[in-house]
Amino acid sequence: MTTNVDALEQLRWKKFPVLNDGFVCLVDAMGSDDAIVQAARVSYGDGTKSVSDDRTLIRYLMRHRHTTPFEMAEIKLLVRIPMDAWRQWIRHRTASVNEYSTRYSVAIDSAQTTEPDAWRRQTTTNRQGSAGLLDPAEGAALTASEREFQKSARELYERRVELGVAREQARKDLPLSTYTQAYWKCDLHNLFHFLALRMEEHAQLEIRQYATIIGEKIVQPLFPLSYQAFVDYQLDSTTLSRLEQETIARLAAKGRIPASIDDFMECCDPSWQGFARLRERDEALAKMVKMGLVQK
Ligand SMILES: Cc1cc2nc3c(=O)[nH]c(=O)nc-3n(C[C@H](O)[C@H](O)[C@H](O)COP(=O)(O)OP(=O)(O)OC[C@H]3O[C@@H](n4cnc5c(N)ncnc54)[C@H](O)[C@@H]3O)c2cc1C
Repeated sequence: MTTNVDALEQLRWKKFPVLNDGFVCLVDAMGSDDAIVQAARVSYGDGTKSVSDDRTLIRYLMRHRHTTPFEMAEIKLLVRIPMDAWRQWIRHRTASVNEYSTRYSVAIDSAQTTEPDAWRRQTTTNRQGSAGLLDPAEGAALTASEREFQKSARELYERRVELGVAREQARKDLPLSTYTQAYWKCDLHNLFHFLALRMEEHAQLEIRQYATIIGEKIVQPLFPLSYQAFVDYQLDSTTLSRLEQETIARLAAKGRIPASIDDFMECCDPSWQGFARLRERDEALAKMVKMGLVQK
């Protein structure tokens, strides 16, 4: 049997810094890999109970999307995060949340800042996302104007509060870079769903940093078998659609693996052919390049 008692005591209230002034820390956790195995064995019977069997069972559950045993474990976090990243985070509805109230309390006097060498360019291949960096000299000017803007937005907010404006109204011009804090509790199944979406390369860098710390620094030590199964079967796995499988089968039948891009274009689904750009086909191609089935 595995236990996470030591990991829990070492992690509780340990602040992992994120961005310039954010953090994630574990407040509490319920369950362990054992709790997941225990719940699953209600279905599958006691059987054998060695650690390797626990690992096998957890990997079976993850592979076959037998999800409810993973709901038997939970973690509760305290996070400090800028509002724009929080706005993405809070879209995950299967968690319990209590957030710092800027109606009751004065808004946290801290905003996320960007270093001169960290301003990202808008990507040209995807409507959302970034690729590459601005020149640090241009970045330095942006960082300086950011500092000015945040200072002036804060001063305006504090002036309103001093004049007696209600906090709920005074806050309306605070920037999205302002930090908020929240308790966030989620079961392991839904946490893995959150991590799969937010640790992934298409997620915005800022929320990705939070998710990666949660995954690697908190969930991994608390639930090592489940986390490894999550990495293997969700985070680092890929799916193949029917069209993709048929394309691979056609390439294999013609003895063209590894294939060239021209081979891929010839053997891909007929509905994908004749377009200069087609997202579904281009994503399939990228997947096959990554798997070494097609060589660029
Ligand atoms: C890279 C990226 C880009 C995004 N871009 C946009 C965007 O441009 N605009 C935008 O609005 N959002 C965007 N989102 C947010 C996205 O559409 C989801 O709202 C968010 O990721 C939460 O996912 P979820 O609903 O699966 O998670 P959760 O809310 O945690 O739900 C988990 C699962 O529970 C089930 N569930 C929960 N609530 C319900 C319900 N009411 N009814 C039925 N099933 C439910 C679903 O199966 C769901 O997958 C983006 C997300 C990512 C990761």
